[in-house]
Amino acid sequence: MRHIQVLEQANLLASIGCQHVIITELTGHGKKEFEVSTAPDPNGHSHRDSTTWLTSRGKFRYSADRLLRIFINKFGSDVVNHRMTAGKLISLYTTYMALYPKDEMSVNRIYYFFKRLASREFVISYCSEKKCKKPFISKNVRVRQCMTCTTLSKLRKKTDKDSNQSMQLDLPEATSAVA
Ligand SMILES: [Zn+2]
Repeated sequence: MRHIQVLEQANLLASIGCQHVIITELTGHGKKEFEVSTAPDPNGHSHRDSTTWLTSRGKFRYSADRLLRIFINKFGSDVVNHRMTAGKLISLYTTYMALYPKDEMSVNRIYYFFKRLASREFVISYCSEKKCKKPFISKNVRVRQCMTCTTLSKLRKKTDKDSNQSMQLDLPEATSAVA
């Protein structure tokens, strides 16, 4: 890749709040070479290298699976052995933000996420639900369903239970009406 293109990527990363160390690692350009000094993250996040958000049970788990799926769609399923580049990182960030603008995501979080996946701290599995089969991450190989399917099946069980209860409640009336 031409020098000017690499420098352009370095500047672009700087303008979306990417940490200096990451820019230098991906482009080989030091801090003094960026024309644009690193801007604050456009959404005000200051994400560091941490996995707390990945192990939480809340909405962030959906973000992680979304990120993983975007990566696989764009760059293939060999997530663990891939080499991150400035171009890939920019592409992942812009796609993610276009699809899920309300999620708490940043270019730094994306970078560290894939670094953690490469270090095999998390397991990448494919959902066991026939209609889903989508990739997801977890800490445990025994987890077979993605977060979305787990939530859906819990909801389904709850709805079944609720409707069974109301059927039972309706039953005496129905019986007496027949009698
Ligand atoms: Zn699923």
